[in-house]
Amino acid sequence: MPGTKAHLLCRKYIVDTIKPYCDSVTLQQFTHFWSVSQSTLTMHNIIATQNWKDAKERVLLLAHWDSRPFADQDKNPANHDKPILGADDGASGVAVLMELAKALQNHHPGLGIMFFFTDGEDLGPNIDEMLLGTDYFADHLPSPKPNYGILLDMIGNKGVKVPIEQEGYNSNPRFVNDFYSFVDKNGFSGTFPDKFGYDMEDDHIPLIQKGIPTMDLIDFDYAPWHTLGDTVDKCSAESLGKIGDALTLWLTQKPVYKVVPMGPTG
Ligand SMILES: [Zn+2]
Repeated sequence: MPGTKAHLLCRKYIVDTIKPYCDSVTLQQFTHFWSVSQSTLTMHNIIATQNWKDAKERVLLLAHWDSRPFADQDKNPANHDKPILGADDGASGVAVLMELAKALQNHHPGLGIMFFFTDGEDLGPNIDEMLLGTDYFADHLPSPKPNYGILLDMIGNKGVKVPIEQEGYNSNPRFVNDFYSFVDKNGFSGTFPDKFGYDMEDDHIPLIQKGIPTMDLIDFDYAPWHTLGDTVDKCSAESLGKIGDALTLWLTQKPVYKVVPMGPTG
């Protein structure tokens, strides 16, 4: 969680892990006056790129790397002010992004990839103090900016199932339909059921508001969510592998996929 030594160590771990596979790795610093501690927290987005400047199409892959300071969904009220480990809620998306940085390092020259590890997503306690890193990023977009985004959140659950998330779908239905039919054709229909799931208030929203269509790949049917039980034994390497394989296939077979902007009438 932000403001701790563990947070600094985790940031170093992510940077050191992806550095060999990326053209650049930078920290984007921002601050937030936190209502809980009544002090200013300094946080950092981690932004890494592959072939960003020269690409024809640019995709933003993102996940939050902070974890929540409160187990506020825990059955035991005594745990509500304890921080969660966030094995699925946070670390699962980060794990897949780090592995993709390695798997995609020699990708198609037409494709630019930005790996965006966002901070302060789960700070809270309420939504007005969440999504902080993506809010900041969306207000300071890189140039050139991404054509579209794919958000990974809570995708490590055993037997992971990622239905279509409504807000991401609305941001560009054609793109989301194309992605789901592509992964379906390639044998991932068990992981990506072609039906609507929850409507999420997640890191894709600030990007969509700035005109970047972004899908939210999330399995929100996860009982240990925001409890002390969100630990690594609930996660599955097979699930992480399926998400990573599906994305690798999409990004290598559709390297210059063009998101056609929606007209003013939608
Ligand atoms: Zn969370």
